[in-house]
Amino acid sequence: MTRVAIIGAGFGGVAVAAELLRQGFRDIVLLEKADRIGGVWRDNTYPGCACDVPAPLYSFSFALNPDWSRRYPPHQEILTYLERCARELGVTDLVRFGVEVADAGWTGDHWQITTTAGELISADVLIPAMGQLSRPSIPVLPGAETFRGRQLHTAHWDPHLAIDGRRVAVIGTGASAIQLVPEIVGTAARVTVFQRTAPWTLPKPDRRYGPVRRAAYRRIPGLMRLSRAATWGLTLVQGAAVAGNRVVNPLVRGYSRAQRRWQVRDPELRSKVTPDDPLGCKRVLFTNAWLPALARPDVDLVIEKIIAVTPDGIRTADGVEHPCDVLIYGTGFAATEFLAPIRVTGRDGVRLTDEWRDGAHAYLGMTVPGFPNLFLIYGPNTNTGNTSVIYFHESQARYIAQAVRRIAAGESPLEVREERATAYDQEIQGRLAGSVWTACRSWYRTASGRVVTNWPGKAAEYRRRTARLDPADFRPVVIPQPSPALHDSADAHHRLQRG
Ligand code: NAP
Repeated sequence: MTRVAIIGAGFGGVAVAAELLRQGFRDIVLLEKADRIGGVWRDNTYPGCACDVPAPLYSFSFALNPDWSRRYPPHQEILTYLERCARELGVTDLVRFGVEVADAGWTGDHWQITTTAGELISADVLIPAMGQLSRPSIPVLPGAETFRGRQLHTAHWDPHLAIDGRRVAVIGTGASAIQLVPEIVGTAARVTVFQRTAPWTLPKPDRRYGPVRRAAYRRIPGLMRLSRAATWGLTLVQGAAVAGNRVVNPLVRGYSRAQRRWQVRDPELRSKVTPDDPLGCKRVLFTNAWLPALARPDVDLVIEKIIAVTPDGIRTADGVEHPCDVLIYGTGFAATEFLAPIRVTGRDGVRLTDEWRDGAHAYLGMTVPGFPNLFLIYGPNTNTGNTSVIYFHESQARYIAQAVRRIAAGESPLEVREERATAYDQEIQGRLAGSVWTACRSWYRTASGRVVTNWPGKAAEYRRRTARLDPADFRPVVIPQPSPALHDSADAHHRLQRG
């Protein structure tokens, strides 16, 4: 039986496990370091955390949910949805919780995984599904260790954190900070937001889903498909704007400008929140509450560069010290360091970190030369700024299931041909070179500027290109014949552990 190990039980891990189960594979284990399914929706619990892709689209196509309470539901609802899907699809039973992978090495005919507890697990196919936004990034600011108050990252939220009557500093103005700040203003004595570059914002077309709509969705599931299709249409418009479409781009920029005019009366503040970067080079943020929160008298927006953290606050380049009791890092994630900190060693002892020294790359975002039977979910260049990543996860799950089918049929391990992977990477990077994402610094790019997270085209193109695994993309891998003694002990010792 083909043994499949999936690392991570977020949307990606659940998607691929569900597809493999649907196709009849049973020897599957999901290794999850936390004690619960959910990925980013388990980890991010800060006030205001929600998805900014409408739920009718940010959900599995095969498990549309009639029960969303609103178009942009809060994170807890998304987590509950994912847990329910995992349970009903039979995935939860396959998860081993509290198991963190330290390294994985290709032995010549299978993957040997070592956990941080020292356990050895063998698998024929390894599917890392660890997401791109699972490792918080906290800037190293001089003096941070001297700060007397509490400091934490948005992804490490403490539900017991005292905000009441405190002076709170928030560093960053990305998707997380713009959701958090409106939730804490009014409770905190004062909120000081530190902005490095202003984000583009758009009004969030949120709405409550009442009992009539929910009953209709339950009774006529086709209505949910309709709502999903309409949302899809909107993402195409947004995608066209980001791609620089000559008609749509100015319209969307105008809409964003109108939002600033209408929500920010103070010209000085309006000038501070007006982005300099081109629309879409960072994620465009949907919000109705961010600009009004910044316009409050008890909120300061600081645009001077942070130079140090002091015991009592933050000092900026103009010499001003901004006192605070709580310091919140809304500074994002180490998205370009795929699979870190797991050490992955492929054929001939090649380290994935060495293969990716100049930036992560993978054929179709899933498979890397020199790493047989390794398939990533949400790998390099498979992120989207406009639509739902779950659509991409489903495409990947179907492709990987085809690969597992071939491996199970007794073919040799699958390793993508170097020349195919190189040509693909050149094509993707060539297309990205002319994209808006190269126009500013963001989590889409490595320090050297390579765009490693984003897919350059439309989601439908990705679906089309991954629809059918082409056997000609793969080369045969010669399996070394182990001595009988070695083979016996390895087999006894490294059998896949089931939870
Ligand atoms: P982010 O978009 O990377 O934003 C990080 C913010 O911190 C940026 O404003 C950045 O400034 C600032 N920053 C970073 N280092 C700094 C430093 N040393 N000094 C000053 N400012 C610094 O991170 P995020 O807000 O956590 O969002 C990350 C991604 O998570 C989003 O793009 C989105 O895909 C996902 N997310 C989604 C939702 C959702 O609703 N679906 C919600 C939250 C997050 P610069 O802009 O100048 O770099």
